[in-house]
Amino acid sequence: MDTCYVCRKTLTDDGANGTAKRHKEHIIHNGIYGKLKSSTILCEQCGGLYSKNDAKFVELFSGFIELLREKLINKDHGSTNAKRLKGFLYLPEDEKKDIEFFDGKTYPITPYYEIDTDNKVIKIYGHKKRIIQYQNVVKKEHQEYNDYAVELCEDISTLGTVGLFFSEGNAEFNMTFREGLCKIATEFALDCNVRIEDMPYTLKKGENNTAILKTESAMVVPYMPHSAAEMTIALMEDYVDQKYPLHKLRLYTETTGVDDCRSLVCYIELFSTFKYFVLLNDDYKGNDIDKWYCQTIISEDNLGSNPVKPFLDIKTVLKEMRDRTYIILSTYIKTKKLPEVLFDTKSISRIIEDTIAEEGLEQFTREILGHLSVDNYMKTTVYHYEDAEPSFISLIGQCHKTPIDKARYYTFFKFNQLDRFCWNYNKIIEARNKLSMV
Ligand SMILES: [Zn+2]
Repeated sequence: MDTCYVCRKTLTDDGANGTAKRHKEHIIHNGIYGKLKSSTILCEQCGGLYSKNDAKFVELFSGFIELLREKLINKDHGSTNAKRLKGFLYLPEDEKKDIEFFDGKTYPITPYYEIDTDNKVIKIYGHKKRIIQYQNVVKKEHQEYNDYAVELCEDISTLGTVGLFFSEGNAEFNMTFREGLCKIATEFALDCNVRIEDMPYTLKKGENNTAILKTESAMVVPYMPHSAAEMTIALMEDYVDQKYPLHKLRLYTETTGVDDCRSLVCYIELFSTFKYFVLLNDDYKGNDIDKWYCQTIISEDNLGSNPVKPFLDIKTVLKEMRDRTYIILSTYIKTKKLPEVLFDTKSISRIIEDTIAEEGLEQFTREILGHLSVDNYMKTTVYHYEDAEPSFISLIGQCHKTPIDKARYYTFFKFNQLDRFCWNYNKIIEARNKLSMV
């Protein structure tokens, strides 16, 4: 018998006789094109309570969604119309302009102009609705250039680098982000039949046996690569993963090293970029669990005719990433060159060089081919200290002298990798397909 985890009423299709109507809950939000659903955990009414927070969470990723809009799989419901987003255009001379991004174009919020005396052109930049009128103002102001041609430019994205707002100006960012992650983790666990009592960090008991999501006490820890091999693959992820960007989940139990305790952890990866562990319980008494979910959000690229299936087998994904990384590494050893399409090839080649110097090529190759196995992928160890909160320690903290810098670099890199992928989709896909034909 299915019950709603919030109101604890029995779920039925019609919601009659004191039961509650079944709700098809998206475990990964529909707004970010999540496809994993459960109709056994939440009722329609309680699902509605979360819709405002869900919308806020989805909003955080709207930059990536807007940039990729035309390439995405179908959403289960809701509008896919273009949204207006704010951001900055960073110009080469350290200057930045407020911009609006809409339907694939980048407009300055305030129209402006430039006078090119060499070519006798007045260039006017702005949204087409405004520049027609604005050009009269400019012409009046500069009657000395009466004989100049006027060029109206709408899309200014090619003049510099566009940065759409992500956390900027959102005071609730951290809270919204944590809440969203905790909800995904908790609902994935509920869908895998974990009991409410077994998730003390993310579910709070209310009156009459009801429960509600809580995030204050939840432990949400960013994932960090465990080894140089894992780091190398992560830095080339947009290129070595044919279906990048992916959403992934892994719910697992592991021994904590303290007495016979086991913890229950959910790993969450969104857009192959935002990677976190949510600790659901550090003294879990239920059965051992190891459940996976993996999907792409990109619709069929280039090949066309086949219907799109977003669901992926994680073993296939991992094997492909290892094989493709191996091809790149082998070529690099011979030519000292990385594919041009990769982001920040300088840093990647430095990491490869450092690792070969430190571990030797043979060991590094073995790691690339062996490390990303299903056994350890998306898993990390939870360490417990008697006098402190349990904490996750990724091995990167042990093998590098400046883990914080590495962590910062990694997070920054992953964000920019996704951003760049969104802006250069066609170019990267084309290069990616070429590698698969090698
Ligand atoms: Zn309910």
